[in-house]
Amino acid sequence: MELQDRITTLTGVGPKKAEAFARLGVETVEDLIFTFPRIYEDRKNIVNIEDLKEGETALFAGAVDAIRPGGFSRGRKSRVLRMLVTDNTGSIEVVFFNAAYLAKTIHRGDRLAFFGKPVINRGRLQVVHPQFEKEKTVQTGILPIYPLTSGITQREMRRLQRLIEPLYPQVESILSEETVQRNNLCDMEYAIRNVHFPSERQHYLEAKYRLVFDEFMTLETGLMASRMNERYEGEGPMFDDDGSEREFIDSLPYPLTNAQERCVREITADLISSKPMNRLIQGDVGSGKTAVAQIAMFKAVRSGYQAVMMAPTEILARQHYEGISRDFDAFGIKTGFLSGSMKASEKRQVLEDLANGSVQVLIGTHAVIQPDVVFDNLGLVITDEQHRFGVSQRIKLKDKGDMPNVLVMTATPIPRTLAVVLYGDMDVSVIDEMPPGRIPIITRCLTGDGARDKCYDFVERQIRQGRQAYVVTPLIDESEAMDARSVTQVYEELAKRFSRTEMIHGAMKQAEKDDIMARFSAGEIDVLVSTVVIEVGINVPNAAVMVIENAERFGLAQLHQLRGRVGRGQWQSYCFLIIEGSSEVAEKRGKIMEESSDGFYIAEEDLKLRGPGEIFGTRQHGLPDMRLADMVKHMNVLNAARDEAKALLEADPHLEKPENAPLKRRVEKLFGEDLTLNL
Ligand code: ADP
Ligand code: MG
Repeated sequence: MELQDRITTLTGVGPKKAEAFARLGVETVEDLIFTFPRIYEDRKNIVNIEDLKEGETALFAGAVDAIRPGGFSRGRKSRVLRMLVTDNTGSIEVVFFNAAYLAKTIHRGDRLAFFGKPVINRGRLQVVHPQFEKEKTVQTGILPIYPLTSGITQREMRRLQRLIEPLYPQVESILSEETVQRNNLCDMEYAIRNVHFPSERQHYLEAKYRLVFDEFMTLETGLMASRMNERYEGEGPMFDDDGSEREFIDSLPYPLTNAQERCVREITADLISSKPMNRLIQGDVGSGKTAVAQIAMFKAVRSGYQAVMMAPTEILARQHYEGISRDFDAFGIKTGFLSGSMKASEKRQVLEDLANGSVQVLIGTHAVIQPDVVFDNLGLVITDEQHRFGVSQRIKLKDKGDMPNVLVMTATPIPRTLAVVLYGDMDVSVIDEMPPGRIPIITRCLTGDGARDKCYDFVERQIRQGRQAYVVTPLIDESEAMDARSVTQVYEELAKRFSRTEMIHGAMKQAEKDDIMARFSAGEIDVLVSTVVIEVGINVPNAAVMVIENAERFGLAQLHQLRGRVGRGQWQSYCFLIIEGSSEVAEKRGKIMEESSDGFYIAEEDLKLRGPGEIFGTRQHGLPDMRLADMVKHMNVLNAARDEAKALLEADPHLEKPENAPLKRRVEKLFGEDLTLNL
């Protein structure tokens, strides 16, 4: 048996089981070793029955004294089996519902061990549905509980772990002896053994610390390696230091805010130096990031380079294109658009004009990172709503040019510590000021049908005053879930009441969506019923009401983004969160939304309510999933691992030394094909 053997080499694992294991990401014996328990059950001691306490799950054993099969429990059509279990300190009642079959397997006088949580029923302790087995075979200790999938049982997982235990010593350490010493870590074999079969809590904690360290080391090494590929040794395009950006700034219908001015200064300093820019602009929704990006693009073109901006949705990309091309036309700058849904002939023309340099600015969806997109002289790449893209997409965009200046923009504030993980040594500019004259949005949570009616009465009054409204629903059609108001249902309802109502959702044809968005922009539609397709970036200043149906289904960050669609003009704007049912989390979110409009504060509260996994999972940032490590909880370990990874890569940038081979292998496995590693 070898670590790299397929798991089918293990007794009892056939092709069917292997399929089930594949769902858990387990293909080799080594993968199985790295399948760690989710939690543990403390079955260290067999507890005397007289010492059992209400609510404290425990292992106890004794003889089955009296057994009372039959009978139906009150109100239920199930058979109940009651038995009295006695050891030499006392007795306790054990109850199974719906388990007539057990009467055949359990007999009076049997000696059994039980594991369960005592509860009080009619003044006496009893245990309902405990796990049980023969007292003779019971294993004491801390029992691992593994993640499972259908076709694999807990018992089987434990058996297999025991079976492969002899291989534990062969698992390679990805850390050098010095790193282990410096960070007071336990050795690998100890870590593996004690994460699967800890004899004591303390041993488990030591094991976990080591494994979390390993995960962060792997993550950081991978990120740094890919970033080395991002970081430029040589020189990038140098834009002209001639103040040309002023020409564009002066053409804007408004003066820049101080925060925008500062941001432009920071960007300009990067652009006119030969060191390529690598900068993140963080600014709350509505803070005016687009204008800043446009200024940078203008400067690129005036310096003889092309610029590209990638946006996460077609609607947003198109909106950017329309605004930006209009502004740039006045300067004779040619702007092109690219998206997946374009006709092949249109696309061909744009690609040709890009390659020969006649299109100077390209705006588009992720279509702009496809292999057939070739630039003539790309000097600046911009990613809007960066949090919607993965690390690998950001890198692909950058690779379209020869060490181009990179600007990424996001409205989703992330705690600084996490920003360092995600963006590494990227410079950060913050737009911490809203354009003047914005009136704070009034936010209200509504529950119950009466409140809904009043809400739409309000919408009607707003429409009469010339405003427009968004109504957002979580789902596309009713079949997806019974209890959420679907976009079609809400649309049909509202269309009866408001004559100029339209609906928009992700499953519609692009041309249809574009048409509706254009009409909404032009004020030809009063009520736009939508799924979250309008979540990011859309800008229609006359829209003053945002109604969110089933608001309990959205996370805080998303609610904040959605609310950011209103309050963009000179009108007092409103956001109504219609909450169905009662949930504590939903109420908390609602309260936070009512009280705050500060994206940074909201993001931190979101983190507290949801935990980092959901927000900073693979989907959000293109980072691989961690097994044990948690970027927020284990921040100090992360920092220590980063220092080690940095030192290691400085000494061995491509991990060529034989002693770094295990780490290299692990990094490649973690990132898979997602990342171009410069190893
Ligand atoms: P975001 O940062 O969310 O991307 P946008 O760039 O879409 O925000 O800007 C939101 C709105 O604010 C737009 O209508 C834009 O024209 C306007 N805007 C941007 N900067 C200013 C400013 N300095 N003064 C007034 N309005 C501005
Ligand atoms: Mg924007």
